[in-house]
Amino acid sequence: MEHIHVIGAGLAGCEAAWQAAEAGARVVLYEMRPQKRTAAHKTDSFGELVCSNSLKSEQVHSAPWLLKQEMRRLGSLLLRAADQARVPGGHALTVDRALFSKEITAAIETHPRITIERREVERLPDKDVVIIASGPLTSDALAEEISRITGSERLFFYDSISPIVAAESIDMSIAFRASRWSKSLDGTDDYINCPFDKEQYTAFVDALLDAGRYEAHIAEDNTPYFEGCLPVEEIAKRGTDTLRFGPMKPAGLTDPRTGRWPYAAVQLRQENLRADSYNLVGFQNHMRFGDQARVFRMIPGLESAEFLRFGQMHRNTYIQSPVLLRETLQLRRDPRIFFAGQICGVEGYAESIAAGLLAGQNAAAVARGDEPVLLPRETALGSLCHYITHADPKNFQPANITFDLLPALDEDSKHRFRHDKKARHAEVCRRAHEAFDTFLNGTAPRVHCAVSV
Ligand SMILES: Cc1cc2nc3c(=O)[nH]c(=O)nc-3n(C[C@H](O)[C@H](O)[C@H](O)COP(=O)(O)OP(=O)(O)OC[C@H]3O[C@@H](n4cnc5c(N)ncnc54)[C@H](O)[C@@H]3O)c2cc1C
Repeated sequence: MEHIHVIGAGLAGCEAAWQAAEAGARVVLYEMRPQKRTAAHKTDSFGELVCSNSLKSEQVHSAPWLLKQEMRRLGSLLLRAADQARVPGGHALTVDRALFSKEITAAIETHPRITIERREVERLPDKDVVIIASGPLTSDALAEEISRITGSERLFFYDSISPIVAAESIDMSIAFRASRWSKSLDGTDDYINCPFDKEQYTAFVDALLDAGRYEAHIAEDNTPYFEGCLPVEEIAKRGTDTLRFGPMKPAGLTDPRTGRWPYAAVQLRQENLRADSYNLVGFQNHMRFGDQARVFRMIPGLESAEFLRFGQMHRNTYIQSPVLLRETLQLRRDPRIFFAGQICGVEGYAESIAAGLLAGQNAAAVARGDEPVLLPRETALGSLCHYITHADPKNFQPANITFDLLPALDEDSKHRFRHDKKARHAEVCRRAHEAFDTFLNGTAPRVHCAVSV
């Protein structure tokens, strides 16, 4: 079996290295810390959690729970470490971060088939199987190399994510559908608009200015903002009316109930074909998640909004996976190269580990001349891989696991559970488990993209 080179001993890289080694491969794991640091990592340990200590919900029948259940069933090292390092955190899987890293580092360092090289990788090995798991803060030299192999226009450096809300949680007795100046490509009213009067707007701007921010990341990350992509609270700082002339511009948005333009408006843009989620246009921000929920529920029509994702801004290196990757996480133009973790367009700790897990198992399969596997679309991990490889390449942004990424239920089930969201989610999970069982029993189809290395 050929060697497998894994670049980055973060969440995805450690999981990938472990999986490949457990499958019998000889693995070389490269980590540039402590020689070279990132703006976010504080230690030299492997599998460091750079910010919160939560691997999200363990609430039964939630999408993050489903993903973690699948990862456990696939033998995830990092979830085992998380379970061992668990601290009380309500419904979330929260961990003692030092213990979590210690468990991972010890498991990797003592694995007989893993060799560790503490150095920055600047060029990819030109033979053997390679897994690039260098994360959102990939070093500049490696980013340049990735640009070279993928094409520079396919590598993104900044991630500004607007919050997303569930369509059914928008109060349409307040919000209204309209396109600005009634113009849209097909004559439909594409946007949902949330109208503000003057008093509501002033209170909202004040709340934005008061909201808690993730200052630590801003201070450590000197990457300048793009003027066209400023955090919303930064715009608010520039003057009370600045938002009204920017992302909250009401011009051309006639409220059908008043026949007039509102004082200000937030526009919500449809996020997916199913039209069950909408993003707040231009509302990328640095605010703490709790503050986002509180402040954005002051938006008229969003008082009871269910947030599927919160806004974020940080330096984030990721590739244009819908164009570049197969669902097996292999580079289309060179299938001996895999991408895993945040750099392949997933978002979040658990999602990064999950991508590392699949890349590690598939890399081992390719290294021994077998075919890599494709997780069924009904599963959470299968849907995550499907999203990153099938999303609209022009607007591709990293995603957390949400039910939104999984296939919709059939009409029958939708009808049966139409008044009960919990039952709908339970049904999606039941279907996912069933597909996963079939996959583990070996009866699910394999993909034909093995390569000789
Ligand atoms: C500031 C910040 C805060 C975040 N907060 C959260 C959060 O609270 N919750 C959440 O779920 N997600 C969060 N994320 C997103 C994401 O989940 C994490 O970044 C996660 O660590 C990604 O895992 P990864 O394995 O892809 O990358 P990492 O865990 O970052 O691992 C990549 C590793 O590669 C190494 N490396 C980089 N370049 C090279 C090179 N050339 N040679 C050798 N080694 C190299 C790095 O030193 C690092 O150890 C955050 C991201 C950032 C940037």
